[in-house]
Amino acid sequence: MGDQVTLHETITDGITVTDERHASHNYSERARRNLWLQMSRMGAYNEHNEIPIMVRGEGTRVYDANGTEYFDGLSGLFTNALGHGRTDIGEAAAKQIGELAFFPLWTYAHPRAIELAERLASLTPGDLNRVFFTTGGGEANESAWKLARQYHKMRGDLDRYKVISRDVAYHGTTLGALTITSLEAYRKPFEPLVPGAVKVPAVNFYRAEQHGDDFEAFGLWQAHQIEEAILREGPETIAAVFLEPVQNAGGCFAPPQSYWKEVREICTRYGVLLVSDEVICAFGRIGTWFGGQKYDYVPDIITCAKGITAGYAPLGAMIVSDRIAEPFLHDDVAFFHGFTWAGHPSSCAVALKALEILENEKVIENVRANQEYFHQSLEALKDIPIVGDVRGAGYFWGIELVKDQVTKETWAGDDAERLLRGYVSPEVFRRGLICRSDDRGDPVVQLAPPLISTREDIDFIAGVLREVFTGASKLNI
Ligand code: PMP
Repeated sequence: MGDQVTLHETITDGITVTDERHASHNYSERARRNLWLQMSRMGAYNEHNEIPIMVRGEGTRVYDANGTEYFDGLSGLFTNALGHGRTDIGEAAAKQIGELAFFPLWTYAHPRAIELAERLASLTPGDLNRVFFTTGGGEANESAWKLARQYHKMRGDLDRYKVISRDVAYHGTTLGALTITSLEAYRKPFEPLVPGAVKVPAVNFYRAEQHGDDFEAFGLWQAHQIEEAILREGPETIAAVFLEPVQNAGGCFAPPQSYWKEVREICTRYGVLLVSDEVICAFGRIGTWFGGQKYDYVPDIITCAKGITAGYAPLGAMIVSDRIAEPFLHDDVAFFHGFTWAGHPSSCAVALKALEILENEKVIENVRANQEYFHQSLEALKDIPIVGDVRGAGYFWGIELVKDQVTKETWAGDDAERLLRGYVSPEVFRRGLICRSDDRGDPVVQLAPPLISTREDIDFIAGVLREVFTGASKLNI
């Protein structure tokens, strides 16, 4: 790839200016002067191509500065599980602010952090019961790798510092989390990264090199790739394995049931900590509170964020069991690691309210009731010649686009760019659907709508995709 960095993760690269008197134009120009967008090609925006400015949300819909309505098909950034405009969540934050604006969790505690830790402990699989708060997902992963390193050191396992993760996976952008992340374009500008990154293949059954006819056998084979990596590197050097229950980057790679059970056994056998990165998957996204309840495993560490507050405040968490916490519970030691804002009282109050709503309004039940309908609605798009694979779980689906359904020939480089950035992204957006086009692996379109979405919403998504994919299939790329 050389030193030239290209980023191929697109939600939108702008909207064409129709009228300079539109409110969006003024905002866009001011944003171009003073605001640095995250993960964005800022040069793509100019006086003719505006930054979309979202000003308001209501349920599953958001509205831009010109009043145009969009379906929030990616839940913000996998965050807005309960949709927009829940003033009861705002009231919980306001009440907390009136009571105690802020106090750190550095040698103090406050009631909302304690209550939220208790609540999380009651929802996690197995014995995970101790919560270390962060402000987001990358920080949770950074914390988990550091915790794993110190944990091993404290137990006399002095050489366990390496971390295993899967190809194409995204785990955050701070230097440690970026080392766990496997996306070349994101890593390259910042090298050298933290020593000790070991990579194994992503669980991509659609492009399986082995056991392409047997999902469960494929899962075992994939798990053994992790074992081989452990043995190759030396088990005494591996601190942790980081895996998402369903991998986001690359397009919703959902494993078979055999995978997680085998991975769990392998990690236990070699004394490696199993970290389940549930920054996207937790809190109902895949139809369960946590990945362990869907795939029947108990990790050593769960990292989570995003849906924990349904997008109403920033918060992340690393959750471990007393087994992992034990070396740290003596009087003369500490995990010297923390963030000022971690476990902010307002964020904890918001999270408690969001989790209460998830439970009381049976939101995860809604996901479970509709997940197969969602799946089948997307499967039905396979009559369009460029729809190759449909994969995922719950309310988290990826559609891989191919040149040829039989050979699975893919688009790469400029062709993928022309397909996704040149056509699919703008056309989907123009029809009022926000989703993600992504060719960090093979070209995929990803959907992660709010968990309150109905079958009507799913019909809207499928309808837009049908029009756009049909149009794309007629392009001569
Ligand atoms: N892990 C996963 C699986 C993610 O999807 C993300 C963010 N998309 C992160 C970690 C990083 O989270 P944050 O942006 O909150 O740091």
